[in-house]
Amino acid sequence: MFVVDVTAEPSSIYDAMVESPALLQQATAIDPSDHGALLSFVQRWGLLGAARPAHIRVSADQRGFLAADSVRATRLALQQIKALGSWLAAIHAGRWRSRALPDTSHIPRRQKRSALRFAFATALNDALARPWAPGTGVRLLPQLGLTGSDLPVVRQVVPPAAKAGRRPAFYPIMAVATVQDVLLVELWKRAMDPRHRLRQCRHCPALFIVSDTRRNRVFCSDACRFAFRERRRKAARRARRRYRP
Ligand SMILES: [Zn+2]
Repeated sequence: MFVVDVTAEPSSIYDAMVESPALLQQATAIDPSDHGALLSFVQRWGLLGAARPAHIRVSADQRGFLAADSVRATRLALQQIKALGSWLAAIHAGRWRSRALPDTSHIPRRQKRSALRFAFATALNDALARPWAPGTGVRLLPQLGLTGSDLPVVRQVVPPAAKAGRRPAFYPIMAVATVQDVLLVELWKRAMDPRHRLRQCRHCPALFIVSDTRRNRVFCSDACRFAFRERRRKAARRARRRYRP
């Protein structure tokens, strides 16, 4: 079980809806069956809130917070995010034979693609609504931000950059309750966004977002680009050595 150390100061606060692309990338980069990787992910991003019912701790001087989470539920939640994300990335790339896609051998060839899109929507809808546990589906909580103000509900959200001299402006905030919900909502946004695609990094398992105007990006980060180049150089050197007369 993951338990929050209440004696420790929270290291940082982040706006999960703003950082959701980075969150999705990191969530898909790790192997959920690896204990160490799972722990460092939770240490960095916080408890996923995967266990049902959620373990909320309420004290007199604080608002309720998520105090513990199941390791197994966390692993299953990340596996689900990874599976759904890879499925969407395969649809975006038109890789209809990808192993990330469910088996379609029983579906007539001409209907495969639309069946895979339909099944993806159904699977994501199930994950968003959690119909097997009524009342626990993802909830979006719209909030209204105001630039230059100190509204208590939005104090932790970084407002959009305001131009100097302009009068205060409202801006939308979409709040969700847990990190798992953020990941699911991010997949929902990815599926609807016609100008970006979800793509798997050529070097690591991470899924990252590419803009349609920068379609040639194939690595999630510079670190992966360099590591890939290095690996190729080493392989070439080995091959040269092997074929030396
Ligand atoms: Zn990568």
